[in-house]
Amino acid sequence: MGSDNRKRYALVTGASRGIGRAVAVRLAKDGYFILVNFVSNQQEAENTLEEIRMAGSDGELLRFDVSNADDTSGALAKWHEEHPGEYIEVLVNNAGIRKDNLMMWMPADDWRKVLDISLDGFFNVTQPLLKNMIVAKWGRIINMVSLSGIKGMAGQTNYSAAKGGIIAATKALAQEVAKKKITVNAVAPGFIRTDMTGDLPEAELKKLIPTGRFGEPSEVAELVAFLASENSSYITGEVISINGGLYT
Ligand code: NAP
Repeated sequence: MGSDNRKRYALVTGASRGIGRAVAVRLAKDGYFILVNFVSNQQEAENTLEEIRMAGSDGELLRFDVSNADDTSGALAKWHEEHPGEYIEVLVNNAGIRKDNLMMWMPADDWRKVLDISLDGFFNVTQPLLKNMIVAKWGRIINMVSLSGIKGMAGQTNYSAAKGGIIAATKALAQEVAKKKITVNAVAPGFIRTDMTGDLPEAELKKLIPTGRFGEPSEVAELVAFLASENSSYITGEVISINGGLYT
């Protein structure tokens, strides 16, 4: 990140709600122009944009389905055409879904969908943005994974596999691009209060967490902002947990 006055762009996938929204607003506070990706929830994406403006920056909505390679590459190519000479220097791969079931009962479609969005989504979005980061010799890639991808969680073989795959890809890609001053890290939350965890029995689950509560999206966003900053230059290929002591 240079100290010049050029516009600095950060793309946050799944920024219409939850952790993605909090990350988008937090990076806006650091002066980034935010590309707010979402797949279907235009109104919520607009609400994120409103919060970005209230935080003193600006942004634009960029709708695409991260699991669809053509949709994603098309949207990113169009953005580059409309912004000649500009590049996206911070990428937060945050979009994700859960479709929990014991493996014994899991429909193949629920296995596929979770891998398509998380794991293929990571490839579909990251691959087209890498070249410009390499040419610019600066970049930050932050992948939202999960405790489930480190420890494995019963009822989440699909989700654990997807997040575990991204963790391995994070470590591999970090080694490929380190010399170009691009860092690639993963953030692994435990239970964070968002729509994704809205159906979970919070009162029961929080008894298992040493801090005695679910985390807030803004707490995850602080960690992402640090990893996006110049100050984290010597951290790459890492998976950083943020789980209230649930698993260390
Ligand atoms: P959330 O509240 O359910 O929000 C999910 C976001 O992803 C929404 O913005 C949604 O867009 C977007 N999205 C879903 N499918 C997409 C697709 N195919 N293409 C583009 N965007 C898509 O989820 P969250 O809790 O904030 O989770 C964010 C990330 O953190 C996920 O990767 C999740 O696995 C991870 N995580 C969450 C927790 C937790 O406790 N909440 C814990 C560990 C890891 P629309 O609004 O358009 O649907």
